[in-house]
Amino acid sequence: LRRIVELYRTNPIAKDIVAKIHRLAEKLRARLGDEPVKIMDFCGTHEWTITHFGLRSLMPSNVELVAGPGCPVCITPAYYIDVAIKLALDGITVYTYGDAYKLPGSAHRGSGKPRSLAEARAAGGSIEVVYSVVDAVKRARETGKESVFLAVGFETTAPATASAVARRMAPRNLTFINVHRLTPPIMRHVFEVHKKRIPIRGVIAPGHVSTITGAKAWKFVPEEYGIPTVVAGFEPIDVLLAILEILRQLVAGEAKLVNEYTRAVTWEGNTAAQRAINECCEVVDAAWRGLGFVPKSGLAFRDKYAEYDALRQYGIPELTPERFSYDLPPGCRCAEVTLGLAKPTDCPHFLRGCTPANPYGPCMVSSEGTCAVWARYGGGG
Ligand code: SF4
Repeated sequence: LRRIVELYRTNPIAKDIVAKIHRLAEKLRARLGDEPVKIMDFCGTHEWTITHFGLRSLMPSNVELVAGPGCPVCITPAYYIDVAIKLALDGITVYTYGDAYKLPGSAHRGSGKPRSLAEARAAGGSIEVVYSVVDAVKRARETGKESVFLAVGFETTAPATASAVARRMAPRNLTFINVHRLTPPIMRHVFEVHKKRIPIRGVIAPGHVSTITGAKAWKFVPEEYGIPTVVAGFEPIDVLLAILEILRQLVAGEAKLVNEYTRAVTWEGNTAAQRAINECCEVVDAAWRGLGFVPKSGLAFRDKYAEYDALRQYGIPELTPERFSYDLPPGCRCAEVTLGLAKPTDCPHFLRGCTPANPYGPCMVSSEGTCAVWARYGGGG
């Protein structure tokens, strides 16, 4: 495994690819003039690779790498954090992934109310950080206590939640706040937003999500939007190859879907995981933090699994478009960062009142959040 990783980090290979990228970018400059060639990554780990390895600094001046909505914690609506905090303070044990532990809800700083599950725990709430839904199931069985799992994530974590519910592995004392979201619909939403501005000309499709959905999930991007798309792995050379392929297609006037990450991603994806999701959940319109409702972008438990739905079990209303209100703290620009319309450094709070140790907005919480990545490694290139 180490040999494979080293191969994808080899300097001479990277230099060769970067030189080719520069040659292709020159051809595009002749065609597009000063307009930047915007390439969006749709996965927080790709943004990590780009930033951690300084790939932006290797790009030609007319190629702009833009982070997209690739962090599931960042886009989890504040409403569900508020619900989890309330339940924890009511004495129900809340299990959460570590990534979501510090995620702020809707309470303002200095209001005296807990803003996150971390603060709720300090205020006496019963909260445990777990690595997976399997841990939550195990802990709920061991303790026998009334418990709730805050189930956030994209297609990558949804199958584990779905399996626990559909196979009825979860004990009766464990229910779920289901905040799973789907990535293809948000990609459509992003394209529509960017259409009215400088368009996105290439997409680095998410590698982890694609292991579940299969590369086929992205064929609509070149077919309907005419945007070259590459499913890529997470080593620097994976990402550079994806950029090279996108530029090659742009120069050739093509728009195709290419799977660079064949060592992990197939065309069909993980069909067993897809079946588990379909068995357990239906696709619904769902809210994204700071953005509002996006059609058919969320998963909700089917009625036959209603007993696992924490909101239904505790009589808490589901978030609806009427109930949704703008849920970012004042001045936080996470909505624009999530859509690739602003950089973290455009935000007045960045590394001032908002740091990884003390996050003010949601994009600074998770290790996959664009602001957190830029804060740790510097993203400007
Ligand atoms: Fe939001 Fe903090 Fe990022 Fe600003 S720096 S956009 S407040 S997360």
